[in-house]
Amino acid sequence: MKRPDRESAVEKRFYSRRMLRAAIVCAAALAVIVLCLLLERSESVSEFCSRYISRPIVWLMGHISSVFPFSLFEIFVFAAVAAALTLVVLFIIYCAGGFPRRGASYVTVLAAVALCVGAVYTLCTGFNYYRAEAPLPMAENDEYGKEDYAQVAELFFEDLTALLEKAEIDGNGNLVSPYSFDELNDVIAEEFKRLDDEYFGGYYTSYTPEAKLMASSELMSELHLIGITFSPLGEANLNAGVPVCDLVSTTAHELMHAKGVMRESEANLVSYWLLATSDNDFLRLCGYLELTSDMFMLTDTERHEYWAQRLTECRYDDVRGYSSRYWSQYTALRRISGFFNDIYLAINGQGGTESYNEGSQTEITFTPVYDDEGNPVYDESGGQIFESEIVAYSQIHRFMAEYFLG
Ligand SMILES: [Zn+2]
Repeated sequence: MKRPDRESAVEKRFYSRRMLRAAIVCAAALAVIVLCLLLERSESVSEFCSRYISRPIVWLMGHISSVFPFSLFEIFVFAAVAAALTLVVLFIIYCAGGFPRRGASYVTVLAAVALCVGAVYTLCTGFNYYRAEAPLPMAENDEYGKEDYAQVAELFFEDLTALLEKAEIDGNGNLVSPYSFDELNDVIAEEFKRLDDEYFGGYYTSYTPEAKLMASSELMSELHLIGITFSPLGEANLNAGVPVCDLVSTTAHELMHAKGVMRESEANLVSYWLLATSDNDFLRLCGYLELTSDMFMLTDTERHEYWAQRLTECRYDDVRGYSSRYWSQYTALRRISGFFNDIYLAINGQGGTESYNEGSQTEITFTPVYDDEGNPVYDESGGQIFESEIVAYSQIHRFMAEYFLG
């Protein structure tokens, strides 16, 4: 059945003009997005645009948003969802009531606003995904051998156990931070000043925006989110409720995004390096906790068992256990955030959520073990025994080797 058209000639003209104006804005925003996507194909153009377009926008917006002590991003998300729902409802009501142009004009305005936000977001972040590799002081691939890396592991675990023994850990296994969140912001911002060294060639912007705690932390935990950086507002937003060790490492990770490092593996690598090589005991401990499994790969069976025992005595298992128990409470919405993060990273040319762990990639060869008669050796469960050997150390191994031995 055809719906009645009850719009007057004046209304028809007014809403048609509104739709035309909104359509022009949509086309301009789309043109900006497409232009950015074309420019991103070149690493040198991306590096240039990252430094001279994205960086000034984040600097400006970060200074404006830092005036507000709460997360503007959080308000923006709730306002955007409410506005989108309201406009869709209005569209349905107006179309059903015989005012199709009025309804359609609201939807076109909504599309124009969404595309403008998309264009600004692409200008702020898109180039950062395609710029040159983030520089970090790390050992060359063939600079150190197996014995050297075994020594790196010894030095790492000695320091880690000493730090754990000194650390305050509550009855549940949560680390007790010696800092308020504001103080933590200051301590991390101070640590980030190391990235201003000329060694890094100005790759990292010297501006470190303020990280903010979000009010909707419970919802964030349900979605298994610890932090979100929204570059158009120059804000790194953190989940206040998570275990302290997760909060500290993710604050550093999110601030790396705000400082122009968008690729997840590099935001992890540079933030881990900053924390793990810090002179500040608390930051170093939080960095080490992220690297423990990587460092265990450098130990033989005997030293592995020894350090595992020492870590248990120092309540390492309690700290990690508290974190796993915390996250295991939240299962209902877990897959949703992973699904959208995968799509978002794929749009930006990254390998989905797998890309977070690229800094841990280690090349290992497995050689079968034979007895004196040349027969393969099997373990008690009947599985053939292989000897493993690392032939290419990960970036994490190499920056820790540089730190301890360089
Ligand atoms: Zn990230």
